[in-house]
Amino acid sequence: MTTATVVGSGPNGLVAAAVLARAGVAVTVLEAADTVGGGTRTAEAIVPGLLVDHCSAVHPMAVGSPVLAELGLERHGLRWRLPEVDCVHPLDGGDAGVLVRSVEETAAGLGADGPLWRALFTGPVRNYDTYSPDFLGPLVRIPRHPLLLARFGAPTVLPAEVLARAFRTERGRALFLGSAAHAFRPLNRPLTSAIGLGLFTAGHRHGWGVAQGGSQAVADALVAVLAEHGATVRTGVHVRSADELPPSDVVVWDVGPDRLPALLGDRLPARVARAYRRFRHGPAAFKVDYAVAGGVPWTHPAARRAGTLHVVGSAAETAHVEREVHAGRMPERPFVLVGQQYLADPTRSAGDVHPVWAYAHVPYGYTGDATAAVTAQIERFAPGFRERVVGTLTTDPAQFAANPNFVGGNILTGSKDVRRLVFGPRTTLQPYDTGAPGHFLCSAATPPGPGAHGMCGAHAARRALAHLRR
Ligand SMILES: Cc1cc2nc3c(=O)[nH]c(=O)nc-3n(C[C@H](O)[C@H](O)[C@H](O)COP(=O)(O)OP(=O)(O)OC[C@H]3O[C@@H](n4cnc5c(N)ncnc54)[C@H](O)[C@@H]3O)c2cc1C
Repeated sequence: MTTATVVGSGPNGLVAAAVLARAGVAVTVLEAADTVGGGTRTAEAIVPGLLVDHCSAVHPMAVGSPVLAELGLERHGLRWRLPEVDCVHPLDGGDAGVLVRSVEETAAGLGADGPLWRALFTGPVRNYDTYSPDFLGPLVRIPRHPLLLARFGAPTVLPAEVLARAFRTERGRALFLGSAAHAFRPLNRPLTSAIGLGLFTAGHRHGWGVAQGGSQAVADALVAVLAEHGATVRTGVHVRSADELPPSDVVVWDVGPDRLPALLGDRLPARVARAYRRFRHGPAAFKVDYAVAGGVPWTHPAARRAGTLHVVGSAAETAHVEREVHAGRMPERPFVLVGQQYLADPTRSAGDVHPVWAYAHVPYGYTGDATAAVTAQIERFAPGFRERVVGTLTTDPAQFAANPNFVGGNILTGSKDVRRLVFGPRTTLQPYDTGAPGHFLCSAATPPGPGAHGMCGAHAARRALAHLRR
């Protein structure tokens, strides 16, 4: 029987392991932390009974992920729950951009920007499931549906600030730029429209879903698939060299590429080692989880029903703070992402006390305390919020960096500049290959990039299986 070791149990490591195990390979997963899941972990925190997602929370790309569907995670208890309102971008003065599942309803709410919204999303949303396997993988290859992909892809090459100029209302501009800010990059750079357009298109098709019981449910369902196929998962094992691994025909690494030169040593061709050493990290996250009695008193009514909020203010402020953070300066009023997962999944609350998940974009390696800035941003659009907070839990960039893939608190596993978005961690047509025979890379540093969709793991496992067949 052929054997594989997977190092790291984030969603990509677990998916890689599951794809290999289903193909009849004997798989062992080794995880440094004491619990499985990497960025898909949930724990009871702050007050008894409150379920808090440690990292990922909202899953527009995972709900419709081809590989998660193929693995049948629902058989193992995964239930996606959808909020009534997907995303709200509140503005000073009480207005807001509001995203709901329906393109038509969202467009209607955007007034003069309705026609642009329809033009951007109606066609791409209709055909999303046909061409999504093309963009949820390496971009430099022959697509199966080139015309559909081109229709979706054409506007994605634009800097988000340029595409934002096509919007006529502040609502539309802010809603669009708030989503583009998930790229953690200055929004005047090429391809920064891609992440915003991708999240909206996937969301209109499948919803900005959350996993019932917390994102841990994704990891737990994947572990159940592994158990079904006889795979072994060991936690508390921090692999520091490939020499420590059990004998295996292939190894799949769910790690940052910059770790591979030390892990693989001489096995790695010198030019690949040089490329991985040059791998750069982007800005970081500073997270504050709140226990809130009665929920957040947002001024805008749709915000009280929204699963996700982009809390920063105008489109101009969004563009400004993203540039500042990228330049290493901490803004006074940062971009804050807020998650109210409990609205779609009430099992996470403790009576009338609800978990509110929030993180700010901060500079790489930021060592200050952003708690007051995050709270002030929420209070700005929800006066009276502070008085409802009964407890908090903060996670700063250094604490995120306990996961070796989040260097300096960079939760995307690398800066998403044009070269990395197109090629992955080095300039190659095979981003999952390390150049060391039998060793493959599957972390979020590879295409299609961050998220709990597991597609990086699926592609790396398929490369490993092709290697085994040879
Ligand atoms: C605060 C925050 C919010 C986020 N929000 C979202 C969101 O809402 N939606 C979304 O889709 N994504 C979100 N993400 C991103 C998402 O969590 C990641 O993109 C995703 O987890 C990446 O998966 P991965 O498998 O590549 O790596 P990870 O999830 O980082 O897992 C890697 C695992 O490998 C282990 N490991 C690394 N090196 C070694 C070693 N040498 N030996 C043994 N084990 C090792 C680590 O301990 C870790 O468990 C968020 C992340 C954070 C931190």
